[in-house]
Amino acid sequence: MRLILLGPPGSGKGTLAVDLARLYHIRHISTGDIFRQMIREKTELGQKASVYIDAGQLVPDDLTIAMVQERLASEDCRDGFMLDGFPRTLPQAEALDRLTSDMNCRIDAVLNVQVPDDLILRRLSGRRMCRGCGRGYNIYSMPPKQENICDVCGDQLIQRSDDQPETIRQRLNAYREQTEPLIDYYAQRDLLLDVDNSGKIGENLPDVDRALKSKLGDESLNG
Ligand code: AMP
Repeated sequence: MRLILLGPPGSGKGTLAVDLARLYHIRHISTGDIFRQMIREKTELGQKASVYIDAGQLVPDDLTIAMVQERLASEDCRDGFMLDGFPRTLPQAEALDRLTSDMNCRIDAVLNVQVPDDLILRRLSGRRMCRGCGRGYNIYSMPPKQENICDVCGDQLIQRSDDQPETIRQRLNAYREQTEPLIDYYAQRDLLLDVDNSGKIGENLPDVDRALKSKLGDESLNG
């Protein structure tokens, strides 16, 4: 099973992606998470990417595509994957078509995650991340047990640098201008499935699972 999650920043696609990947036993690949890890580890690519990420812009296609190509080539992606945050531009979608064709496989469905604008802003402004291990929280919907302290490693929670109000605006613009055209791209290929993700964490999962099963048939989702 190979899935793509499309959706604006703050649509909760990261959380939905983790839940779906667990449900279908496939590897969750978040390009945003990979970039953030590289930034924490101060790799060369991480340092290049952070300039764009902090400005709310997309990292250039060549860097992003090369990173995803390497990730998809690894053994743990052989039986399936859930792409979260990739592709985000038409050249990335075209590169993914080439990659899957080289791997003799194809994308089964593209979930278009939908959430009203006011909820997007609330989710993004409430979001926090552990400075040490990178685990995500939300002060409204998924607070830590102790204020500002990570439940897992005890380090301090911080606001992502790209969750500041001006950067949020830039990221939403980047989504509308560069990523939204992919909705048509995948609709034309009959891969698109619109899903609502405006409920609390985990609340929409059963409906998404049902919608996918009815699009693809139960058999294809068994692993
Ligand atoms: P995310 O966690 O998915 O919201 O990603 C955080 C940031 O990482 C984005 O705002 C971009 O700057 C960068 N990023 C993640 N995925 C991509 C991608 N596919 N193409 C370009 N930039 C990306």
